[in-house]
Amino acid sequence: MEEVRQAWIPQPKIPLIEWLPDNIKLPSEDSDNAGYYRNDYVPYFWGVMHALDNPVSWMVVMQKAAQIGWTVLLATDICKVAVTDPARILMLFPKDEKGRLFMDEKLVPIIEGSPAVNRVIDVTTSRKGGSRSTRKKFPGGEVRTIGSNSISNVKSTTARRGYVEEPDDTNKDVGDQGDSIRHLRERLKRMRNKKLIIGGTPAVADLSQVEHYTKLGTMRVLPVTCHDCGDSHVLDWENVRWLKKEEGIPHPVFGLHQPDTAIYGCPECGSEWDDYRRQANILQTCKTARENGDDFAGWVKTQCGEDFGPDEIEPIETFMELSELYVCIPGTGLADVVRDFLEAEHEAKSGDESARIVFQNNKLGRPYQYAASRLLDHEKLQEAAEDYPELSCPAGGLLVTVGIDVQHDRLAITIRAFGRNEESWQMFWGEIDGDTADKRDSCWDALDKLVFQPFKHERFGEIRAAAVSIDSSDGGTSNAVYHWVRTRDKKHRGILVMAIKGDSNDFGTKEIFTQPRQVDYNNPKRRTKADRHGVRVYIVGTHKAKDLIAKRLLGTSAYMHSCKHVRQDYWEQVTAEVKAPSKKHKGRETWQQRPGRPNEGTDTEVYALHAAHAKGMHKYNEKKWSSIELQLGQRTLFSESDQSPDQPQPVPKKPHRPAQPVGSLLDS
Ligand SMILES: [Zn+2]
Repeated sequence: MEEVRQAWIPQPKIPLIEWLPDNIKLPSEDSDNAGYYRNDYVPYFWGVMHALDNPVSWMVVMQKAAQIGWTVLLATDICKVAVTDPARILMLFPKDEKGRLFMDEKLVPIIEGSPAVNRVIDVTTSRKGGSRSTRKKFPGGEVRTIGSNSISNVKSTTARRGYVEEPDDTNKDVGDQGDSIRHLRERLKRMRNKKLIIGGTPAVADLSQVEHYTKLGTMRVLPVTCHDCGDSHVLDWENVRWLKKEEGIPHPVFGLHQPDTAIYGCPECGSEWDDYRRQANILQTCKTARENGDDFAGWVKTQCGEDFGPDEIEPIETFMELSELYVCIPGTGLADVVRDFLEAEHEAKSGDESARIVFQNNKLGRPYQYAASRLLDHEKLQEAAEDYPELSCPAGGLLVTVGIDVQHDRLAITIRAFGRNEESWQMFWGEIDGDTADKRDSCWDALDKLVFQPFKHERFGEIRAAAVSIDSSDGGTSNAVYHWVRTRDKKHRGILVMAIKGDSNDFGTKEIFTQPRQVDYNNPKRRTKADRHGVRVYIVGTHKAKDLIAKRLLGTSAYMHSCKHVRQDYWEQVTAEVKAPSKKHKGRETWQQRPGRPNEGTDTEVYALHAAHAKGMHKYNEKKWSSIELQLGQRTLFSESDQSPDQPQPVPKKPHRPAQPVGSLLDS
């Protein structure tokens, strides 16, 4: 009883580095370092511990190698919060299962082994105490794990401390509110003394979430002092050396290399550090720094925030370049890292690049640098944009299509004209704000005015859109989209108006355009929401479309012209995605969004291309193009008709265009 009462009284604030050795006992499963927590095994974490303690830093980011003891550090930090400063803690994991594993295999064994903590945190899994395997309660707080796919289910839960484990594997697309990390940040937003702790191994440069967050802060590195020359440098794989046999029977994987001879060479004086020396140098560097009053224990800033000096703690403290070369746990050594390296090189030789990526990520804690030639340069694209009026169709354009992306608060629109050899001209890029879930919102009328207007044509007077593809993939807005598609398709006969959904998980096997599924009228159970609205949903092969668009933007395929006068964020948006190996898909290449870069520009181009393919544009021959030209010429004579070009119709219909053609002023 006395113990319970004691647990309720918050303990005096004590730094993590001082609290750990007395209060945390690591279980014997971690055989190498079982027993009371030894700070000497993790000197590279001392500076991070300071940032975890200090109330000034509301965000702490660690970009690191995989096997470096980070998860154990997080578990001990949770224990300390529970005992000394209770609060609700939310932990975000890529998947629910990872959270459960963390609880069962890391946190619970540490709690059970550490009497000071076990008094406070209830680790029984019985529901009576309110603690399940994804949730542990303690007086004044709790710790809860969430998978990144289900974070929107816990909308109402606020927390004072949030952890993100492996941000590069978390879900980047939760509903329309963006990525799961942003969701977690929302939970912390209004809390005093909040803290967000993000740690993980980076994946691909420019796409990596942990790299993105690291760049927001101080970008600290840990230079290690050489015992021989006294110079300091950040440990680098380049300085690892090993011997190679001159002759003999080659090992099937390592060849004549001898990983067991691995040493670290000081780049200044050439002094050779064996594992013992290397670890002693790291420990000594951190010790000396602390003794000299440096709470960051040797971690130095490479980026200073405004109004901050190099010695001051900042609101966003970030740590990087923590590779496996820093590991100090007895029994670990460079030979293992060299073996992994040789293995990865061996696999790369047989054509599997993913092993190299994994080595770079997991062992060196660095994002993989992708060949720069694959990246589109938005500035170059913008320079190449051409000077013709917006919302007008240049001479070569013969088929106009529209792609519309639907967000909760706006519609994003691309209008593009296609011509011979699939060459195409951008006519419009922009957005219309509104409550898109409401079918009566004025944004839909503004969309009508924009999309169904007659556009000026350089040769033929005017031209109308032939096909429109609009995104209906979001459950919150799909009712309004279906309503718009059904009513407008009826009203504008001759214009193909399609509700679409993107399918990107096919690795490029799915065609850009395919016929929609037929409605099964005989089986009411199989009727979808779209069926009930009388709308057929077209599935777009987005992967293939993005491949094609990237080639065209690079100029290696049918040219995609852009118009100088469209909204100026177009070129950044259309280059927001990069095709790169995906950790989630075992290294297979997928199109991925760069963090913090909106990509509606790309999506709307994909949908406009889909609409063109729906009209069969990619299969048009010269005869077809000529007949379209002829029709457009005739249409000019009658100054009207919105017939689709592939359904020749000699009898012109009465025009029903708006009295005032709208320009690019979407708010009109
Ligand atoms: Zn040296």
